[in-house]
Amino acid sequence: MEIIADCMSPHAGEAQEGHMQLVWREPFQVEERARVVAWTCHCRTIVYELCRAAGQSYIRRTSFGKDGQTVHETYRWSLAEAAKVWDALLKGQAR
Ligand SMILES: [Zn+2]
Repeated sequence: MEIIADCMSPHAGEAQEGHMQLVWREPFQVEERARVVAWTCHCRTIVYELCRAAGQSYIRRTSFGKDGQTVHETYRWSLAEAAKVWDALLKGQAR
């Protein structure tokens, strides 16, 4: 994994062979109040955030490109399930 001195947050690891394929959907609701529990480093063009809303958890992916940002989200899970997926994402075992 690449290490940059200024980075305070983890980076999503390089995707591993045979990693779990997450389903990335259009954001469920625009004005949903979500609490961001964890996030990956903003030095990357793709930032992942572990979110909680209404007792459910999911991962939000924001891609920053020339045309602005694109947001996608996973399905809703329990916090325990989402934490497992988050862990897998950081290890490159899910995308
Ligand atoms: Zn970084």
